[in-house]
Amino acid sequence: MATWRCVKQCGACCQLDPADRPELEEYLSPSELTLYLSLVGPDGWCVHFDQVNRECRIYADRPRFCRVEAEVFQQMYGIEPDDLNDFAIDCCRQQIEGVYGNRSLEMLRFDREVGV
Ligand code: SF4
Ligand code: SF4
Repeated sequence: MATWRCVKQCGACCQLDPADRPELEEYLSPSELTLYLSLVGPDGWCVHFDQVNRECRIYADRPRFCRVEAEVFQQMYGIEPDDLNDFAIDCCRQQIEGVYGNRSLEMLRFDREVGV
């Protein structure tokens, strides 16, 4: 069975361009939306994303909406904990496809490591 994990050297979910995420207002509170928008750099990447090493510079303190955790996904998307694994895999694949492409190295690496 495929088991979700965050794959290193990806960072696709740190591309925050609001134009690619039209439903932000549906799952973020007003204050979170303000925070989210404050993180978007001129190229759409999060200002805390280290694009060279593809790592979050504030990982331990990253916002709630960056966390793939059962409680967070239940609150934000109404996803039951039992469904988190499959939902998170779909989210990552969608985001990786949008940012790097369906046949990208990042997608291949994700599928291999997660076991899709
Ligand atoms: S898209 Fe998924 S695998 Fe890639 S950095 Fe984000 S959580 Fe990790
Ligand atoms: S705070 Fe960190 S995890 Fe969240 S989008 Fe920015 S770089 Fe990515």
